[in-house]
Amino acid sequence: METFTAAVPDEGLLGFVRGSSLDAKARTRIAEAVPDEFFTYPGGLTARDRQALTYERLRRAGLAAPPAAELLDDPPALCALLERAAIADPALFHVMLLHYTLALGPILRFGAAQMPETGARGVREARDALASMDSFGTLLMTEVGRSNSHLSPRTIARHDPASGGFVLSTPDAQAAKFPTSTAHPRVPKTAAVYATLVHGGAERGVFVFVVPLRGPGGAVAPGVRVVDAPETTGLQVDYAAVLLDDLPVPYGAWLRDGASIGANGSFHDPAGSAAARLTRSMGIAPAVWRAVISASAAITRASAGTLLAHSAGRTTLGRLAPRRPLTDYRNQQEAVLGALAAGYALTAVAEHVKTARTAADHPGGAAGGPETAWAPWSAVDRDLALLKAAATVQAQETVSACRVHSGAPGFAAVERLNAYRGLAHAYMNAGGDNELILYDTARAMADLDRYVPPEPGAGPPDGGDLASPRVWLFLAREAERRMRDRLAARVAEARGGDPGDQPDAFAAWNGNLVLAARTAAASADRIVLEIVGAAAESGPPALRPVLGLHALNVLERRAADLLNEGAAPPGFLDEVWAARRRACDELAPRAGSLAAAFELPAPVTSPTAFLTSL
Ligand SMILES: Cc1cc2nc3c(=O)[nH]c(=O)nc-3n(C[C@H](O)[C@H](O)[C@H](O)COP(=O)(O)OP(=O)(O)OC[C@H]3O[C@@H](n4cnc5c(N)ncnc54)[C@H](O)[C@@H]3O)c2cc1C
Repeated sequence: METFTAAVPDEGLLGFVRGSSLDAKARTRIAEAVPDEFFTYPGGLTARDRQALTYERLRRAGLAAPPAAELLDDPPALCALLERAAIADPALFHVMLLHYTLALGPILRFGAAQMPETGARGVREARDALASMDSFGTLLMTEVGRSNSHLSPRTIARHDPASGGFVLSTPDAQAAKFPTSTAHPRVPKTAAVYATLVHGGAERGVFVFVVPLRGPGGAVAPGVRVVDAPETTGLQVDYAAVLLDDLPVPYGAWLRDGASIGANGSFHDPAGSAAARLTRSMGIAPAVWRAVISASAAITRASAGTLLAHSAGRTTLGRLAPRRPLTDYRNQQEAVLGALAAGYALTAVAEHVKTARTAADHPGGAAGGPETAWAPWSAVDRDLALLKAAATVQAQETVSACRVHSGAPGFAAVERLNAYRGLAHAYMNAGGDNELILYDTARAMADLDRYVPPEPGAGPPDGGDLASPRVWLFLAREAERRMRDRLAARVAEARGGDPGDQPDAFAAWNGNLVLAARTAAASADRIVLEIVGAAAESGPPALRPVLGLHALNVLERRAADLLNEGAAPPGFLDEVWAARRRACDELAPRAGSLAAAFELPAPVTSPTAFLTSL
């Protein structure tokens, strides 16, 4: 393989990775908002000092980047900023994502119509404090003591007819909001609190309330209790649990999204039902999923570049062939090229989700997704949620493989790969738990709820040549269709023909969760391969073989199901491995230029100061 630094990027690949949406000026502005200095921390900081620096950098980035409202209206620009933050510092990515998409996002989306009203002064102030980076956004959604708490938060916002406002309360320790990023004692925080609105003694659905949690100097507001979590290293932010002790908030703190309580005390909500209200209140999620998919692509590219930098030019002393370059061995070569290929494939997926708008993007618009049982996410946008799950899993796999194939230096000489792994791992739960998204997707597939099984066509096309995108798609569709049919039949059989979901729905699904998760994951593979196949057709010529390698790796990962379903014959894996060896032989001489088109900043790929000083 060529050395990393010597390589010249292919122009076509460069254009593909940069994407179609941002011009050179916009890209430069994003790079300046997260300068190279943000890629490391000075040594010797306490955890709190480090977190303070993360927030200071968030402030600097926010002031240098385009205004927040513009970013939230321009997914490619916001994703570009968050991608750069993710490869610089996963902790910075996390607090930046919370700030823009999960605090400012709900204020602008659900509070826009009420902004001009006199009573909305608190909301306008919160918006201005967040937009000017005088305060940082935080999210109080998940509750610590029960699973699936998003479906039914026990935090209550009780309407108080006397004041006209609300009283927010945490009924018990199990309903404490955790994790939240609120522990730092000197960092001002503004929270988006998800609570069940109670009016006239009746629950009216889940709404968002804006609460200034910590004032300008970081002082905790009366009625708020913050319990610091112990220090952790997986993704280093200031975690804490938050409890609200009958905290009064004005009517204007309610991000009403068109709902209201009239002068006569009557409650009105255009959502029409508590279930529809929950879906609407979760309508901020697409911005999160786009960002998480884009960040997954970015850290995958960065990890691939890091692994190539470690591998290129490294000599082995193995007895089969002393002094043979490490990348001559298929295992390392396939790890490096497979990681580069995953980086390109996720880039294609990220470009797809950044540029496509869905029903959920329109405030108050009809939800695009099916009914759900495990979490609210698929109801908002089934495929975007599913792609978030697939992208984080892919990033986690690839980053972990890059870490292992980078040996001790990849673990001990620099924190970067460990930090990327922490980020990918965290977002398999955060931003919508992956497994729950898979189960809700599988249920929609089995019930044919806004889902049409893919049509593979008769027999494998192109003589079954695994280099053909039509063959990848045939196999992916065939696996998905067969698995769905079997899942639907098994669940129906377990229900004993009961058309309703009760009373045996739990037993029927609980006996089939393994097949359900794999069926939804097969659907995710098919969607990814459709996006990747389209990019291979329309993209620059150099893209096709690298995306082809990724497709082979996806088929290898899905081989157990293809074989189990009889969608591929015995010996299928031998064919995949042979095709992969051919693909790698073709790509190996171009590894350097494939990585160069990622335009990774120097701090990511250059050897650490520690190792060069030896
Ligand atoms: C690093 C990080 C930062 C976060 N930051 C925030 C934040 O700032 N604000 C916030 O509000 N939240 C935050 N979260 C919370 C995140 O949204 C939740 O972790 C996630 O939704 C999972 O919920 P849980 O932690 O309660 O786990 P659980 O719901 O207990 O899920 C744990 C596992 O149990 C299984 N499971 C759960 N329920 C079921 C079921 N019904 N059927 C089958 N299996 C099930 C699943 O496999 C799941 O993966 C953060 C999470 C992480 C990891």
